[in-house]
Amino acid sequence: MPADELPRPADRSWWLEEALALPEFAGPEAPALQGDTSADVVILGGGYTGMWTAWFLKEAEPDLDVVLLEQDICGGGPSGRNGGFLNGMYEDLGMLLERFGPEGRRTVEAAARSIEEIGAWCEANGVDAHYGLHGDLAISTAPAFDRQIAEMIEEAEANGVGHLYRELSAEEVRERFDSPVARIGATMSHTAGVQPARLARGLRRALIERGVRIFEQTPVTRLGVRTAIAETPGGTVRAGHAVLGLNAWSGAIAPLRRSLMVRGTYIVASAPAPERLEQMRWTGGEGVYDLRTAKQAGKATTGHALPPPNPEGPFPLNLFMEPGKATLEEMIASTERGLLVTRFHYSNIVHPVESTITGMTRDGTFWIEGGEVAYPVKNFRFTQSIIEALTNTESIGRDTELASEFFFSASRVPALKIASFKFSGRSDH
Ligand SMILES: Cc1cc2nc3c(=O)[nH]c(=O)nc-3n(C[C@H](O)[C@H](O)[C@H](O)COP(=O)(O)OP(=O)(O)OC[C@H]3O[C@@H](n4cnc5c(N)ncnc54)[C@H](O)[C@@H]3O)c2cc1C
Repeated sequence: MPADELPRPADRSWWLEEALALPEFAGPEAPALQGDTSADVVILGGGYTGMWTAWFLKEAEPDLDVVLLEQDICGGGPSGRNGGFLNGMYEDLGMLLERFGPEGRRTVEAAARSIEEIGAWCEANGVDAHYGLHGDLAISTAPAFDRQIAEMIEEAEANGVGHLYRELSAEEVRERFDSPVARIGATMSHTAGVQPARLARGLRRALIERGVRIFEQTPVTRLGVRTAIAETPGGTVRAGHAVLGLNAWSGAIAPLRRSLMVRGTYIVASAPAPERLEQMRWTGGEGVYDLRTAKQAGKATTGHALPPPNPEGPFPLNLFMEPGKATLEEMIASTERGLLVTRFHYSNIVHPVESTITGMTRDGTFWIEGGEVAYPVKNFRFTQSIIEALTNTESIGRDTELASEFFFSASRVPALKIASFKFSGRSDH
């Protein structure tokens, strides 16, 4: 595409831009907090979590004084820039039942109820969020995925939600989605779509109308835990209760960091192409996904490899390494001179076949002298074949630790004592 035809960069998501251009979604103003105030409940974060919490609190107790603090604008985070798919988490039902039993089913039922409830809420509150109960269409794009259509339906039937699915022949798929790559498919009737930013901004307006005090451009810099006091640059909120609705930002809060796995996801938007949709007969508004994308999105995968094709080749995304017998103290005590690395970070694959990885140390690197940790040192860069390093293993720790580097992977591994490792230079940090 020539450079002058590229879409201009957006400051906000396209969804949010569209919504904010309309007065019913832009206003009223919610200026930053200036001064100290008190409330029954203070909510941190103006995404769906924070705003729906405020909504249901006011539903339960209309006189409750609720303050909501948002560092940016309400809907400025993922709530105003997501895919807009409302689904009942049905694909996860099997896994949720297996792991959590009846609680897993209740979770899916609650998610499923929300599909209609959001539509009814928009209707009742005059929020035109382009809500549509259109359903989904799953298609197979290669013979290897044909079987999965039947498996998907079998699993749904086994979990008691088979009535929501219907298998489609190749002809039936083409009547709804005439793509040359489409083979057989299945409809899933119980999903809806919204313009997510309109929903977020409509919710914000409804909250303000209900008397929720919203302060935007108001980052909470500290939250007192014993008494809920939210500190912000312009003032404080002292409240009986605090609710955290900070989504991925919660990863910055020390007590939560270790129990959260932050992951990312992206959407790609095209320019409107109604004629093209017409040509393809894709006019029903249903979400369409092919089973390869579903696999890439993590559905029905063992989680131990990147699905093909991928630029990295085989890749252990969920590495479990069997522990050994040594304690970390023993490993240190048996080292005359060496480095204690507590974390590798920023690692990238240089040579997949040789498993050569480059990266840096982080979060504390220490010099060991005479069997004792002597002093901290600056971080090091490294470029090392992992296979080669593992062949130099001298001892393996008996305790394992969960380590996560990428958005979507985690490893449970013991400490390793390795005789030689190629550090390539010192970092400035
Ligand atoms: C690209 C993408 C596509 C997605 N597609 C879908 C989809 O199709 N369907 C679906 O169901 N889900 C989807 N999701 C997930 C969905 O968007 C999120 O689960 C949901 O928006 C989370 O809402 P939230 O209120 O918890 O978080 P957020 O919307 O992230 O809100 C958190 C808010 O907290 C604020 N904040 C952070 N730190 C502070 C602070 N210190 N002080 C004050 N405020 C602070 C942030 O500015 C933010 O506005 C998608 C997500 C992304 C990113």
